[in-house]
Amino acid sequence: MQVVVHRSHRYPQENDADNASASGLPHIEPDIAFIRCLHQQYNRKLPTASVIICFHNEAWSTLLRTIHSVLDTAPKNLLKEVILVDDLSQQGHLKTALSEYISRLDGVKLIRSNKRLGVIGGRLLGAARASGDVLVFMDSHCECHKGWLEPLLDRIAGDRSRVVSPVLDVIDWKTFQYYHSVDPQRGVFDWKLDFHWEPVPKYEKKQHGSLVSPVRSPALPGGVLAVERHYFQNIGAYDPGMSIWGVENMELSIRVWLCGGSLEILPCSRVGHLYHHRVPYSLPDEETVVKNKIRVAETWLDSFKNIFYKRDMAAYLIGKLYNVGTGYCADYKTRWGAAGDPVQLSPCSGNGNQHSEYNSMKEIRFGSGGQFCFDVRQEQVIVSECTLQEQPHFRQQWEVRQQSGGIAHILTAKCIEAVKSGASLGLFLRPCSPVARQQWHFEQLIVMNEG
Ligand code: UDP
Ligand code: MN
Repeated sequence: MQVVVHRSHRYPQENDADNASASGLPHIEPDIAFIRCLHQQYNRKLPTASVIICFHNEAWSTLLRTIHSVLDTAPKNLLKEVILVDDLSQQGHLKTALSEYISRLDGVKLIRSNKRLGVIGGRLLGAARASGDVLVFMDSHCECHKGWLEPLLDRIAGDRSRVVSPVLDVIDWKTFQYYHSVDPQRGVFDWKLDFHWEPVPKYEKKQHGSLVSPVRSPALPGGVLAVERHYFQNIGAYDPGMSIWGVENMELSIRVWLCGGSLEILPCSRVGHLYHHRVPYSLPDEETVVKNKIRVAETWLDSFKNIFYKRDMAAYLIGKLYNVGTGYCADYKTRWGAAGDPVQLSPCSGNGNQHSEYNSMKEIRFGSGGQFCFDVRQEQVIVSECTLQEQPHFRQQWEVRQQSGGIAHILTAKCIEAVKSGASLGLFLRPCSPVARQQWHFEQLIVMNEG
């Protein structure tokens, strides 16, 4: 399973290409809105910024381009520091050569982590060391344009509960072609918790009027965002329980709105972001992003989480059902038309056909796509099509008893027991008792923090 979720990406649109220069180098045709931005006055005293750039195996050219574009564009009095966080990169150029190079740059610090932190942990480490009034989190392959920082700081100066992002232009990672965003867009997410861009709806445009006005956005992209330092810590920073990469931007977005803050994209602030077509890292396991999504759903979506679980089949692909008495896992023979087949026990393999999950509809979802439900035929547990959405269908509903490890069938109040049936081991309903063959563990991957 290849999980691809982009934290920042905006698909290039047809008319965007007109704005790309022939050389492929960043070249922005100033549009009318942008000219108005350049005349914008920022009268109040602006807060200072710490720019935090966390990287894992970034290319030399793109990393340095990010750093220098910050140094070249941010007014000296507003840039407190640039903090680089090396998230356990292995590439040679990021070792001594980088340290030496950085030591010659004023106001740039390099922190090395000796364990892999991921974008969330890396940014948190950088934030802990930062002393500017505002934290600007930035991916390690960006190109900041003149005047990008002031609008961000100005909006935060007006209200510290605003968390703001520049307009992110797309730089193609293969050609370095620069796609200049034309129409104002806002960040949204779907029920699978995937991030998307959409044109600003009419009713929002009416309220906010001008092309250079801030765009209120349900979610912010992950690539670049600015937040007042104390506000960030007060609302709980990034969730350290999310691992490595992905969905952290949605989690922070949801939390900011729930905490009474707001999110905006500022058309006068522009940063190019190099977009990868796929996750370029080796993630610790394929389900990293799914686990993060489940964590967000379980933490913030309340009863709406059911919609997430219905939409995101991959979220079912976790955990297996382990029987204590036999040491085996629930399994079934993958074949066309497997519905109606008995559930069996076989050595635990982690294969797709052992994937099982107990969900809030009290179903035990089963199979590589979470496509089957545990069902019963003549006291034997079988796989069936799920009858989700239909009338209460107790035959497919189960009660998982945490303490005893038992799984009781709600309709008959009997428990699942591992029983020898012919040459194989099957799952049968038997009067509930404390025998080990009636004890089961859902080995689920998601671990919620206590408290
Ligand atoms: N990153 C990191 N550690 C990781 C994964 C990513 O420090 O384990 C950095 C990466 O170098 C980049 C930022 O986190 O600066 C966001 O990752 P990426 O750009 O791949 O996300 P995308 O923009 O593609 O959503
Ligand atoms: Mn990126």
